[in-house]
Parts: sequence; C-alpha cells; structure tokens
Amino acid sequence: MANTKSPFADAVIIAASNNTHGARSIKNISKATPHHMAGNMTADAAAKLFTNASRGASATNCIGSDGRMVQGCYYETAPGTSSNRANDLVSCTYEVANISGAPNWFVSDKAIEKLIANLIWECMTFGFRLNYTGTTLGTMTRHNMFIATSCPGPYLQSKFLEITKTVNDALDGKGMPKTVETLFDKYKVKKPALKVAAPKPVTPAPAPTKWKKISLAAVAKEIWTGKCSYVDSSGKKPWTYWGNGDTRITRLKKAGYSDSDIKKINTVEIPKLSGAKVTTTPAKATVHTVKKGETLSGIAAKYGTTTAKLIALNYIKNANLITVGQKIKLK
Ligand SMILES: [Zn+2]
Repeated sequence: MANTKSPFADAVIIAASNNTHGARSIKNISKATPHHMAGNMTADAAAKLFTNASRGASATNCIGSDGRMVQGCYYETAPGTSSNRANDLVSCTYEVANISGAPNWFVSDKAIEKLIANLIWECMTFGFRLNYTGTTLGTMTRHNMFIATSCPGPYLQSKFLEITKTVNDALDGKGMPKTVETLFDKYKVKKPALKVAAPKPVTPAPAPTKWKKISLAAVAKEIWTGKCSYVDSSGKKPWTYWGNGDTRITRLKKAGYSDSDIKKINTVEIPKLSGAKVTTTPAKATVHTVKKGETLSGIAAKYGTTTAKLIALNYIKNANLITVGQKIKLK
C-alpha cells in the first residue's frame, strides 16, 4: 500500500492504527474537515498525541500556529477525527492549532495559509472541489455538524466560506493569495494552471486615409459644387462642405490653403471645372459701349462684376441713367 503524503508536510509522525478508521482507497477522497486543537500545540506535539494508542483520535494533518504541518495519517488511512466514520472515510482532516482558546479559538494567519495551500493540493491530487453548504452534504465539513462540540471554533468556522472560495479560485486558474503562492514555491509544489483569458484577436486599425492635397482649382471647384473631400490626420472627414465666410477661411487654412489664393482663381475656371455651362466673358475687355436696352446691372452681370463697382469706376451718379454709346469702364 502506497504511503501518500502531502508535499507540504514538514514531518510525518504516524498515528497509532487503532486511532484511525483503517485503510481506505484514495479514490474516495472527496471532502475536507478542518478542526481546531483545543490548545496552541505545535504540529509535532499534536501528532505525537495521536501516536498514543489510547488517545482514540487522529488527523490526516496537524498544523501549528507557525504554519508547520505534520502528517499524522497517510492518505490511504481514514483518520478518526470528526466523530463520524462516513465523513472520515472520505475526508482529509486537520487539527489546526489555535492561538487564543475559548471563546473565539483564533487561528493564526500562517496556519490558515498552510491549510489553504494543502487543501488546494488535495483537491488537485484527489480530484474534488470544496463546497461549503453548512451541511454534511457539502465537501467542506465541520466537526460540529456531527456532534455537539465547539470545534472548529467560531473563528475558524467563520473562515470556511472564504477558505472554500480561495481554494476553488485557485483550482479555477484564478490564482491564489501571494502568501499561499509563496508556500507552493517554497515546497516546490506544482500550482494549478492559471487560466489566462485568451487575448482578443487584434484587428488592425485601418490606416487613416491620408488626404492628398488637391489643387487650388480643385478646392475652388469643391467650394463651387458644395463638396469637401478634406480628410483630417485621424482619417475622418470633419466637414461635408467648405462653408462660407469665416468658416470657409478657417477650414481652408486648416487644410493648408489660403482663402485669398482661392479667390485669385479665375472665377471662369470654376464653372468649367464643375461642368456648368460657361458663359464666355471677353477677358480683355476693359470698356463696354452701352447698347440700346442695356442696363447697368445687366452689363455688370455680363462681365461678372457688380453694379456698385461699375458705379464707382465710372463715377455714375444715377444707375438708372446710362445712355446708348456711353463708355463704361469695367476695370
Ligand atoms: Zn474537532
């Protein structure tokens, strides 16, 4: 028969066989039952008590307040710890030293850390999980579920849920408290594999559409046709059109153009670019001779200028009074 012991055991002091329930199959191990010692004994002292055949009790492991653990029964032996044979036939039992005694029976952090480390190892090794239901149906059981006893004491009992969660989290690959992990490292015990969340597939960000600067004439065309192809450095189209007035000046500047340069573009070019019907204007004409039926506003429209400009250029006092044959300066 194999003598399976915990890698966390600092020593082995085997209990007298008549203090145990005898041999069992480790395949049936599926529970854990932490008890408190009625005193602050060392692990060795507690285990030695169980070598006395008249003691009538034993435990799989004894843990001292310093965190030292002594194996009292190999896992192939059912310990006699919990006043319940059925429980102990399948349970890993503990006697944990307490540092205060009644009424709270405080247990040291070091003892609890060792307990947690060993519970993780037991669950991994024997293939069970902790399930603390507060009843004997759970896999984390208490002495006082079976008989009227103060064991495991209010303090250790208050830790059962937390211990259960810590152990199961470790089994689930969520890691363990640093103090417990340190024990795994110290005793060179294999830790439960960490389940690292699968990295999200990296979808490469689309390369920002770089805006190729277009010609002044093309910008002028866009202004004319109410479009705007400008794309900013983040690849977004901030404007659907170039806008008017100060808005247009600001936008053109941001895109690397000057409004005055745009204005220098021959306005005749713009309708050409837009595909609009072009009314040819005698570009060289600087003077217009008034014909019958012409009005100053009509002449202004014909040459792409304004009535006001013509009035100013020609010192016209009354825009409604122009005469046939009159020479109108256009520039
Ligand atoms: Zn007990």
